[in-house]
Amino acid sequence: MKVIVVGSSHGGYEAVEGLLKDYPDAEIQWYEQGDFLSFLSCGMQMFLEGKVDSADKVRYMTPEAIRERGVSLFEQTQVFALHSADHEIEVKDLQTGEVRTENYDKLILSPGAVPMELDVPGKNLENVYYMRGHDWAVKLKEKVLDNNVKNVVVIGSGYIGIEAAEVFAKAGKSVEVLDMLPRPLATYLDKELTDVIEPELTQNNVHVHGDQLVQEYLGENAVTGVKTDKGEYSADLVVVAAGVKPNTAWLKDELAMYPNGMVKTDNFMRSSADDVFVVGDATLLKYNPGNTLLNVALATNARKQGRFAVKNLEAPLHPFPGVQGTSALSVFDYKFASSGLNATNAQKLGKQVRSVVVEDDFRMDFVPKEENAYVWFKLTYDPDTKAILGGQILSKHDLTAYINVISLAIKTKQTIYDLAYEDFFFQPGFDKPWNILNLAGLAAEKQEDED
Ligand SMILES: Cc1cc2nc3c(=O)[nH]c(=O)nc-3n(C[C@H](O)[C@H](O)[C@H](O)COP(=O)(O)OP(=O)(O)OC[C@H]3O[C@@H](n4cnc5c(N)ncnc54)[C@H](O)[C@@H]3O)c2cc1C
Repeated sequence: MKVIVVGSSHGGYEAVEGLLKDYPDAEIQWYEQGDFLSFLSCGMQMFLEGKVDSADKVRYMTPEAIRERGVSLFEQTQVFALHSADHEIEVKDLQTGEVRTENYDKLILSPGAVPMELDVPGKNLENVYYMRGHDWAVKLKEKVLDNNVKNVVVIGSGYIGIEAAEVFAKAGKSVEVLDMLPRPLATYLDKELTDVIEPELTQNNVHVHGDQLVQEYLGENAVTGVKTDKGEYSADLVVVAAGVKPNTAWLKDELAMYPNGMVKTDNFMRSSADDVFVVGDATLLKYNPGNTLLNVALATNARKQGRFAVKNLEAPLHPFPGVQGTSALSVFDYKFASSGLNATNAQKLGKQVRSVVVEDDFRMDFVPKEENAYVWFKLTYDPDTKAILGGQILSKHDLTAYINVISLAIKTKQTIYDLAYEDFFFQPGFDKPWNILNLAGLAAEKQEDED
């Protein structure tokens, strides 16, 4: 069997690993249009902050290592056409310009996404940058180290924008973050928690301006500022982190797609064409808390989908279990994580939800202050069934892994009552007899009793 994998980031990498494991006799061809194999944008912040000394280390796999395992790897080779009826693709070597046709028995596509450009005057000015992939990582690093860059404007206050802002603030630059939403990180955290994070950002020289519509990049050759409907912000560098668009234009005549260019797949990662599987950021996936399909662009999801494409390669036997949209981030001294529904995405999906917020020291009063920390936890649930639908946690202590419990609780349809009395450990060095998750369950129970 000949299997072709396109894209060498998370989804493509996982598919290749899965094929090597499950189909050791398959002929595997792997295509990547870029000149760097399997870069992890997730590790970009660590590189930009100098915690990892080279962008070249932020990868899953070297070309040599994968070739040694018998994979035919083609870097800087773009797959530019699909002829699914003939089980063929057309590829172009971007160095030589040579074009050729390859046939396949199975094709796994993980073409991912590219950063969204804002279609405003000045978008082609110098020093308008993006934060995704190896090339941008190297270019951004030059700006981090450049003393002439004093003012940085970041467009977008999602987790990528906040990562960019933190990098440049830590490098001593003045950072303004602009977003059309009223609050930073609004798609991950509700107001009770972003109210805690916003002062932390300001104290660290990151100034977030909400409700801003970007109208123009100012400047002659290089950007000097950003104009919005509310004001003008000086900039030596602009980092645009305002969402992504799928890398799928070349597939539009061959595969069924949504109007936004996301490829339609079923629960076995199969596209509308026979033997063509699509995974990763270019797809929607089963989103359990909303009982719907959603684009949840995370490396974790792309890898799991890559695995399921291989599991279902020959027959649709293993339905994808779905995701809760579980993610975590640090914001200077704070660490937060969230999973499932919050006020923003519940409203978008038209879901009725009810919530409680609990806050407390996470260890007992007698524990020395420096070993204790305050924690905020917001629990979101279904007002009818009382099933847990979401959770958000924030603290200066790293309690992010608690959200993995919530993710599992959503998936397995646990209720607020289950959470209230669940058997969580206690040891004063770790937490309290009533864990913060128990406390949230109890608060929700009280809220329902009083209702
Ligand atoms: C700054 C940043 C930080 C992030 N941090 C996290 C994190 O901490 N945790 C997390 O879970 N997620 C994180 N993500 C999200 C995660 O990186 C994406 O969800 C993930 O990269 C999606 O993987 P993918 O395989 O779908 O596509 P992509 O990563 O977009 O990769 C697609 C690859 O396919 C190649 N390609 C596309 N079309 C073709 C073609 N026609 N021919 C040949 N090659 C092609 C591209 O060059 C690219 O290398 C982060 C993203 C960014 C930008």
